[in-house]
Amino acid sequence: MEKIQMTTPLVEMDGDEMTRILWQMIKEKLILPFVELKTAYYDLGLLHRNETRDQVTVDAANATRKYGVAVKCATITPNKQRMEEYPQLTEMWKSPNGTIRSILDGTVFRTPICIDAIQPVVKNWKKPITIARHAYGDVYKAVDLRTSVPGECTMTFRGEDGSEETLLVQKVDGAAVWQGAHNKESSIRSFARACFQYAIDTKQDLWFSTKDTIAKVYDGAFKEIFEEEFEAYKPKFEALGLTYFYTLIDDAVARVIRSEGGYIWACKNYDGDVMSDMVSTAFGSLAMMTSVLVSPDGTMEFEAAHGTVTRHYYRHLKGEQTSTNPMATIFAWSGALRRRGELDGLTNLSQFAAQLEQACLDTLNAGVMTKDLVGLVKPGFQAQAVTTEAFLAAAAERLAAIRG
Ligand code: NAP
Ligand code: MG
Repeated sequence: MEKIQMTTPLVEMDGDEMTRILWQMIKEKLILPFVELKTAYYDLGLLHRNETRDQVTVDAANATRKYGVAVKCATITPNKQRMEEYPQLTEMWKSPNGTIRSILDGTVFRTPICIDAIQPVVKNWKKPITIARHAYGDVYKAVDLRTSVPGECTMTFRGEDGSEETLLVQKVDGAAVWQGAHNKESSIRSFARACFQYAIDTKQDLWFSTKDTIAKVYDGAFKEIFEEEFEAYKPKFEALGLTYFYTLIDDAVARVIRSEGGYIWACKNYDGDVMSDMVSTAFGSLAMMTSVLVSPDGTMEFEAAHGTVTRHYYRHLKGEQTSTNPMATIFAWSGALRRRGELDGLTNLSQFAAQLEQACLDTLNAGVMTKDLVGLVKPGFQAQAVTTEAFLAAAAERLAAIRG
């Protein structure tokens, strides 16, 4: 069969450790035999980031703005321990994801890959729930203070135009803790636009929750800005039969548990941090969680939600066969190829993405899966733990059969 042709490259960001090994295997077994792949390749492996003084990350993000679609492998974010592990590092380079996110001004959407054999802990969840987490400000960019004597704390804003406003935070009669948090209207607007755009792109309802009954001004601004931004997207929502639904965070939590799934839940930074761990665990496994960074203009960068799976990598280096789950990384590739196909009007490329996903899901549903999933299947389901290579070979066989 002839290979599928591409017209525009997608940005390929290579990464580290076990996921870098998976990256090669996935390309070799599941993509290159079927697609005449065109990518703008950037090596975001830690040592190459170090050699380029992290310029490669910036270049990759800028290329993503240019081409509109990227797929990224998991990468090491260096910490103290990594500095000892890699003595050649000249700096503790920042998280590549953070750098890319700020250049693309994007919002991260996380969606679980669901299969029949693994039932969510919440028994009525039938469809995936996507969490959109605002990735700027609030407690993540707050300043903190701890004091030990009675006194009072005030908060002053000094405008560049000479204006000034001061508020009494609190007067206390003893030791206390304090926190000053902020967010930027521009960031909240970008967050809102990315959410509305992604809801349209994936044809799902959008929920948004804050605590505006308590934080009347702060969370109230989030609610208002979302309402304002929604005006521009309303006609498309109506045409697609989608709804935008705002509710209080505590009400949202209760409704999410009672729901069937199948929508996007937009959360403020902290809520998204906490809720995404709860939702992903309840759906099954981090190895089955996909992630996409979406800019307000629709630029998308696809990746797995998990890290570089270091422990498996060290076993791999010792020559052992590992049973590392490649699903989320495969779905990052299929997501990017589907998007490329949509943007370039290449239906056969988008169709290939769907077939690739189907082949992998069929393989899992036939009971062929990596070790992490075997422990999660429902009682009575016959599953067999295989190595990564065996899983990819089985999926490749199915894919070839689907494509005839
Ligand atoms: P991790 O790589 O996600 O792995 C944590 C554990 O989760 C693994 O040891 C493994 O458990 C299990 N696991 C995760 N993905 C799996 C998969 N695909 N198949 C099977 N099991 C899987 O997290 P980490 O060990 O905390 O972080 C490792 C490195 O990744 C760090 O350097 C961190 O900076 C980086 N990281 C990168 C990203 C990113 O680029 N987006 C995100 C998170 C972390 P068992 O060992 O029990 O099998
Ligand atoms: Mg977290």
